[in-house]
Amino acid sequence: AADLRHGAPSWVGVTMRTQRARQRPRIMPNLSPNVQPSASIPTIPPFSSARGTAWTTPAAVKRPSTAWWDAPVTELAGIGRVTGERAATMGITRVGDLLEHLPVRYLTYDDARPLGELSIDEEATVRVRIGRIAVRPTRRRGLRIVEAGVSDATGAAVAVWFNQEYLLRVLEPGQEVLLRGRLEPGRPPKIVVKAHEVLGGQGSEGRHTQGLVPVYPASEALSARRLRELVDAARPYLGAAVENLPAWMRRRLNVPHQADALAAIHFPRTTREGRVGRRRLVLEELVVLQLGLGAVRRNEQLGRPAPALRGDGGLRTAVLGGLPFTLTAEQQRVTAEIARDLERDRPMRRLLQGEVGSGKTVVAALAICQAVEAGRQAALLVPTETLADQHVRTLDMLLAPAGISPVLVTGRLTAGERDHRRLALRSGTASVAIGTQALLFEREAFARLGLVVVDEQHRFGVEQRQALADRATDSGTDAAAHLLYMTATPIPRTLALTAYGDLRVSTIRGRPPGRQPIETRWIRELQRDDAYELIRAQLRAGHQGYVICPRVEGDDEALARSAVEEAERLRRGPFAAFTVGLAHGALKGDDKRAAMTAFATGQTHLLVATTVVEVGIDVPNATIMVIEDADRFGLAQLHQLRGRVGRGEHPGLCILFAEPATEDGQRRLEAITHTQDGFRLAELDLELRGEGAVLGVRQSGPTDLRFARLTRDRRELAEARQIARRTLRDDPRLERPEHSLLRRAVLERFADLPRLLDA
Ligand code: ADP
Ligand code: MG
Repeated sequence: AADLRHGAPSWVGVTMRTQRARQRPRIMPNLSPNVQPSASIPTIPPFSSARGTAWTTPAAVKRPSTAWWDAPVTELAGIGRVTGERAATMGITRVGDLLEHLPVRYLTYDDARPLGELSIDEEATVRVRIGRIAVRPTRRRGLRIVEAGVSDATGAAVAVWFNQEYLLRVLEPGQEVLLRGRLEPGRPPKIVVKAHEVLGGQGSEGRHTQGLVPVYPASEALSARRLRELVDAARPYLGAAVENLPAWMRRRLNVPHQADALAAIHFPRTTREGRVGRRRLVLEELVVLQLGLGAVRRNEQLGRPAPALRGDGGLRTAVLGGLPFTLTAEQQRVTAEIARDLERDRPMRRLLQGEVGSGKTVVAALAICQAVEAGRQAALLVPTETLADQHVRTLDMLLAPAGISPVLVTGRLTAGERDHRRLALRSGTASVAIGTQALLFEREAFARLGLVVVDEQHRFGVEQRQALADRATDSGTDAAAHLLYMTATPIPRTLALTAYGDLRVSTIRGRPPGRQPIETRWIRELQRDDAYELIRAQLRAGHQGYVICPRVEGDDEALARSAVEEAERLRRGPFAAFTVGLAHGALKGDDKRAAMTAFATGQTHLLVATTVVEVGIDVPNATIMVIEDADRFGLAQLHQLRGRVGRGEHPGLCILFAEPATEDGQRRLEAITHTQDGFRLAELDLELRGEGAVLGVRQSGPTDLRFARLTRDRRELAEARQIARRTLRDDPRLERPEHSLLRRAVLERFADLPRLLDA
């Protein structure tokens, strides 16, 4: 067994079958599994910008025999070009990808039993020899049955397969096979076969028919059965798995070696073994993530200082005095949290979350005042120019009592006007700017920037935040600005610790008093006309409404078209008596603005829009929200959308059109019609559809999780956080030799950070 370089994995006691050693795979000669590769690993880019806070790169770290881990799957025995191409469509190109393609569950089959022992209707595995084999046509069109006489020492039966004529080419009389199936009465009795495998060939015996049979996520290209065969072929190279976790951490977390964990997952003898193996992968993933996030936070803290914004409170008092309401206790609490952060000379990195209409804008205005009191400038960044327009009006009113007049900088200004405003910001005569994110990426934009507020930015990933943080500097002193992110998407705690783990979180719970309720109804296609009548009644009463068409991911044109077509349909048909406006992402800036203005001023009754446009819009007279294909949206997003109505003195009505295909889809729609609690909806979304649904789009980046499921692995998340904190405390840059591979894993996961920072 010279090939079994790794030896029998010790921890779970899963032994590799020695006959595998004979099947030496066709490989590049210098990559034979018992040869340690001498090639050094390419140098890792520094973790952060070259400001001295980066983790310095030590001499190249050598991974033990990663060569095999990274070898193409086509190097494995029995995997040719075609299979390789098919595997690639599933993201599996390297041997390591294959071994990290984990089963979603296991079928629990027992060991082979003698045929004569089985009773009718029993499902079992038998080890039998094939006799005569033939195909039998049936009277049912399209149904053909393959039948084979089978027997062992204790009895005989007829094995039956439906529509699998290719078996005639695979099975031969005299072959020994394992069959999994149900025994049905007959003379001789029949076995309706669920799974079969020919013995004496390649692969581990009983892989498809005995014991715990892993079920892999499959595709058209590769069946779960074929994937089992591929994993089998890769089995001898489990030992090439990289062990990122140092021994002390493995001991402390009580987890097996990586190779053993993978062996336990793919070839478990008990379900518990499989679970323990998976736990290790989950923990490692979360530990690496938490180390990276911890390093990002640390980097902020140890990096450039920020101006301590200690004002006399004069401007804040003026703004508060001008409000037609008093702050709620929640608003006061988060305002105080933010104020404390701003007074420190370390840059604030804080997320302010609160449902739509919870009153975040005034909290932001107070933070802006604090910056100005301290002699600094502030910028409010928003995702779209439409929102910038709206915010400038709101903030102008809010800040007027403090004598602050915010400057709007957008692409729509004439070149001369824009230069004029930029100059005001650069020279410091203007203290508050509002614009899209592009504002920050202009060179030398601010004279004394102290605070950047980013509104409605839950779609930012940690990398974008890093890039933004790097830009948020004062061009004069190179000091870092404080950053406040605001989002209306309720973020479950687990997500706050992962996707937002680089930020501290403040939460405004509930909405200000006097808010109108929003009734939500899920309407089936059959009742569409009745629903339209309801809407017409509201429009006749002088109200307005939105019709939201879903965003078809990755296809801007298609989504624009669907909104365009819907507007056309409504204009010609059910709402011919009203004015129907249209706003979508593909419209030119001016057209979009005109459409929004027409709606805001009451000239259009109904606004057909895509979600791209709608964020943050505030039209108190709008009481109706219609959402088409509502099951395509995440619950958090639906909740956020419906928050656009019921803002004035009249109650809101949200109509969801949907014909969900799945039970989960129905559960989600039921949930949103019954609860107003955004946090509960977000938790449910996370559970049913994963984090992409909560965040609005799938984020891809360092916080993406492959093995961990946040709703399931809460305990592991807590463990990982704890151990990551401890690790960074003792070895902040992971410079100790025993941490070198862990460090490498962190840098791989957060690979884009340095690139973005240098951009
Ligand atoms: P969001 O959190 O969605 O950004 P806004 O800041 O736009 O919410 O606030 C929504 C509305 O609620 C605004 O018209 C604002 O003036 C009002 N508002 C904010 N705080 C209060 C409060 N404490 N009492 C009453 N109304 C408030
Ligand atoms: Mg807002």
